[in-house]
Parts: sequence; C-alpha cells; structure tokens
Amino acid sequence: MLITVDCLRADHCGFYGYSHPTTPFLDSLASESFVVPQAIVAGAPTYYSLPSILASRMPLALGRDVLGVAPGESTLATVLRESGYATGAFSAGNPYISPRFGYHEGFDVFRDFLDFEVRATQNTGGPETPPGPSVRGKLNRAIRSFAGGIGLNRLYNELYFQYCMKIVPAVSSVDALRRFPAAGMVVDEAQSWLASVEERPFFLWLHLMDPHAPYYPPNEAFRELTGRDIEPGRARYLNEYWNRSDLIPSGLRKKRDEVIELYDAGIRSADRQIARLVQSLRQSHLWEDCVLALTADHGEEFLDHGGRYHPPVRLTEEIVRVPLLIRVPGFEDRAVKVPPSPMSHLHLAPTLLEIMGVQAPSAFQGRSLWTNLQRGQAWDDPAIIECAYGCTNPFRTENRSAPRLLGVRDTHFKLVMRMEPGATEELYDLDADPAETHSGVAGPALEARKRLLQTAREHLGRTVAGRDGMARLRARLRELRCEILG
Ligand SMILES: [Zn+2]
Repeated sequence: MLITVDCLRADHCGFYGYSHPTTPFLDSLASESFVVPQAIVAGAPTYYSLPSILASRMPLALGRDVLGVAPGESTLATVLRESGYATGAFSAGNPYISPRFGYHEGFDVFRDFLDFEVRATQNTGGPETPPGPSVRGKLNRAIRSFAGGIGLNRLYNELYFQYCMKIVPAVSSVDALRRFPAAGMVVDEAQSWLASVEERPFFLWLHLMDPHAPYYPPNEAFRELTGRDIEPGRARYLNEYWNRSDLIPSGLRKKRDEVIELYDAGIRSADRQIARLVQSLRQSHLWEDCVLALTADHGEEFLDHGGRYHPPVRLTEEIVRVPLLIRVPGFEDRAVKVPPSPMSHLHLAPTLLEIMGVQAPSAFQGRSLWTNLQRGQAWDDPAIIECAYGCTNPFRTENRSAPRLLGVRDTHFKLVMRMEPGATEELYDLDADPAETHSGVAGPALEARKRLLQTAREHLGRTVAGRDGMARLRARLRELRCEILG
C-alpha cells in the first residue's frame, strides 16, 4: 500500500520531531517502521515528483515538454498487476493525477475525484490551481489606477481586500469551502474497493490532499489539534489573506501562525483517516501482510525563504524533504535506525518491489535500498532534484520549456543551479546552516561543490544519452490528442 500526502513537509510530522500533535497515529506506526530521516523528492510540485515515486524515473528524463507517466511505461502498478495483484488508486482531486497524464496506467480501478463538486466560489489555492477570473470590476480598476497615480496603492489594496471580505456571503461550515475531497471520503471509497478484492493480493495507492491549499481542514481534525472549533469565516479570511499577491512577506507574516494551524489540521485529518483505514485492515486480517509506504510528493513553504505554497522556484528543504515511512510485516521489532543518507524517491519503487519479492523492471532508474535499510547501512548516492523553473501551470505546454532547476543533495551539502546562461549557483552546508540562509563556497564546501557538480554533469549526460525515444513519442502523441480533443 502506498500513501502519498500532498504538501506534507517532514518537519511537520511528530515522528520527525514536530512539537504539535499532527500525526499521533503515524507516530505510533513509525515506532515499528523504517523511518528515512532524509527522504528527498526527485522534483516538485506534484507533476515533477510523481514520475519518480510511481515509475522510478527522473521527472525530466523524457524531455521537459513531457508530463506524467508515458503510455506503456512501467510503474509500480503495471508491475504489480502483471504479478497478479489487484490494483486500485484513489486520488483526492489533484488535477495532475489523472488519465491525461497517464497515472491510471496499471490500475484496475482508478478514481481521481476530479468530478468533486467545487462549492467554494472564491479563487484561492496557490500555484497548483490554474488562475481564475479576476474579481475586480471596471470601476475598481479605475479607482485602483487613480490610487496608484497618487501613491496610495498599498492603502487601496488593503481597503479593497477588507471590503471583499466584508461583502462575501457568510458560510456555515468549513466543508462548504473545501476545494478537494477530505481524506475520509477517499478512504471510504478505498475501503469499498478493498472489500471487493477478497483474497487477492492488492496494491492500493491513496493520494490525500488535506494539507494542500486552500487550507480548509475538517473541523474534527482542527479540534483534536487545537482544542477549538474552526470558524469557517476566519478560515476563509486567512486563506484569502495568505493568497494576496499585493503583500510582501512582512505583511503576510502577521497571519502565518494561524495559516500554519490550518495546514497542520489538514495533516491531522490525513493521520486520523489513515488510522481508520489501518484499523479496518486489521479487522479484516489484511494488515498482517501489508507493506506500507507513506510519503509526500513535496513539502510546503510558509515564508521560510520568503515564499508560500510550493512553486518550482526553490529547492529548499521545506519543499524537497518529505516524510518516508516504510512498514514491513515481520520487521516491526527489527526496524533499525535508518542512516541519514539522502534517499531519493527514485529508489522507493525498486525498494518496495524487493520487499514484496517482485522483480523490478530494467527501465527503473533507481535501485533497491532494502539491504541497506535492514542493516542500517549508509549509501553514497546523492539525491538529484529537477523541475522546469517557475512552471506553475503545466497545462500550458509553453510553460514547461523554462530553464531546468537542478539540485544535487548529499548528506551534508546541497548544490542548486538554474541551467541557463549567466545563472548563479547556490551551495548550502546543511550541517552548519540547516535553514539555508547563506550560500557560499569556502573550506570543505569547495570539495563538496566539485563532487556535486560532477554528479550533476553525469546526470545531465545520462538524461540525454538514456532517453527512451519511443516513450517520449507516445507521451507527446497523447498530449496532442488531448489538445485536439480539448
Ligand atoms: Zn502536490
């Protein structure tokens, strides 16, 4: 069973040392699982991360213009289905997890919840949501331009925002504001499917969106976390405030803690529904044999480096470091401490397949780390992270051709480069400067830079030389078909 929780940064989970009770169930599970201290995504956001999780393939390996899993590409689901597993996927309404991008491949049942009714009328939600129409009318634009002319832009923006918040109709429940189905609904459907599988081995993939912006967690989860009931009007105000484009970080910072509280309650919601799912697996005696991997497609930023949400413009730890917990039956007492080597998501699928005794396809770019996990043995492979810089809306194919943003991270250092003429590089010493506040090359960092640059060079060479031309062509044809059919 694979559970991916959208936007879940590692340092907001109890089992990674977070001080708020976001993950009581997962904390208990962690005590009998392998917990990877430095699990690193291969790309961010969702559309640059998932190919590595499901297909053990770097996100840009088929070319920057190819998105998702190519038709016919081997994935965890296709391999396990061929091995006789019943396969089911339940994804909570993420627009990039759909047949259009090939994620249904290998699944007997694929439910993407993209028909989830959007009851909210406002346009918030961060960079993964394609922008909607502006709410500003003609008159407002005229006033705004007048205010700008006499240097009162900030005042105008503030008043206009407060005015919009006043006239918006009252809402009685936070459920009416939610953009994605909450984990409870996804788990319900997964359970019905599990009941239909009967005696067959199964591969279940759940993708939960509860911590994703806009942050509208179910009230029960909010109450469990904070001891208070959620106020729907306040939650809406905070989300709208957080989404403002006219504010600089110091202005946004005033609401940061309250926004994080909503995000954390989203994590708590995922945690309690995963607990419910595991409880039902226990009751039906499926849990004894169930291998579980829990991770996230990327993290989330709360002004850590001046930004919000998770656009592909930075590869800082709050974006690239995610939880990774692997529970293996028979190893509950023997799950040893995992070394702090960075584990790329690229290695997850081959590792899981080896645990299940299934041969990994040769097309997988990662390798199994199962022996290392069992022995608590470190490994040397640095984790590579890549995406197209600033591509926040890949539904527009032209956005995808932005320069590559490339990160190489080993246990102690991270090198980040924007691959365009004249672009600067950044190098962080993660031991001395875990918050990545200053980039610099001196002392031991000089040697690290040389090493990481060499890894980057090898990676780029492999990307070009090892490209699967047929898979690329099939993916491009699928895209063209979608464009033609609208
Ligand atoms: Zn995502």
